[in-house]
Amino acid sequence: MQRYFIETAIEGARITGEDARHMIKVMRMKEGDKIVVVAQQMAHICTIQDFVDDEVCIQATGEQIPSPELPVQVTIACGLPKGDKLEFIAQKATELGMFALLPFEAERSIVKWDAKKGAKKQERLQKIAKEAAEQSHRTHIPIIHEPVSFQQFIKQLGDFDAVFIADEEDAKVENRTKFAEKLRNTSNTKSILLIFGPEGGIARKEVEKLQQAGAQTMSLGPRILRAETAPLYALSAISYELE
Ligand code: SAM
Repeated sequence: MQRYFIETAIEGARITGEDARHMIKVMRMKEGDKIVVVAQQMAHICTIQDFVDDEVCIQATGEQIPSPELPVQVTIACGLPKGDKLEFIAQKATELGMFALLPFEAERSIVKWDAKKGAKKQERLQKIAKEAAEQSHRTHIPIIHEPVSFQQFIKQLGDFDAVFIADEEDAKVENRTKFAEKLRNTSNTKSILLIFGPEGGIARKEVEKLQQAGAQTMSLGPRILRAETAPLYALSAISYELE
């Protein structure tokens, strides 16, 4: 069943704009067809009632689909990577249950966020996340934040119940801090922030400042993962441990 997100309550809802055009012109839907509509993070099975002024009137059947969301809200903070890696992370991490993406300008980020072109790029990232959320049957579209400076980023750490830095140096020592063990000790945690470095890794002084702000370091195993692989590994570990 096709899935659409709406921003209003389900009662008396209509599908409008691009989604309505998609239903009418691309899917050629008709009265009586069933679709899934996600409203206020709940997925409802709905029947199409009518088409009025390029909008689609729907009626909830009363049947709801269980939530596929992770039991904790996981925000991925990554040092701004090169090329189209942010797009890759936005798409794949959405499939794996990410709650939000918060890129930051790390000392070793080679690219800088271009404020002029940035708005368009952010819009594109948000679209990628929406499409990935639809295909993964999510009930939440991850929020893609505009990249922030490291100074602005560090001020946001207090907004989360637990903050972990994926630290490649921790991965190299024999007595590694295993992420899975950290997760098992995080009970009653509603929100987790996971921090990843860019291709060149996180600078030691950044790690120290993050630790002073309350973050804990952890490793994701003894192999060094690519900047775009590490967040996906961490989300998979959360799913494995907590779901
Ligand atoms: N040079 C490669 C690249 O171009 O992608 C590897 C980059 S790795 C240093 C980037 C980030 O991934 C690190 O800063 C760290 O946050 C995370 N990372 C990679 N492997 C890890 C591991 N085994 N344990 C913890 N973090 C890891």
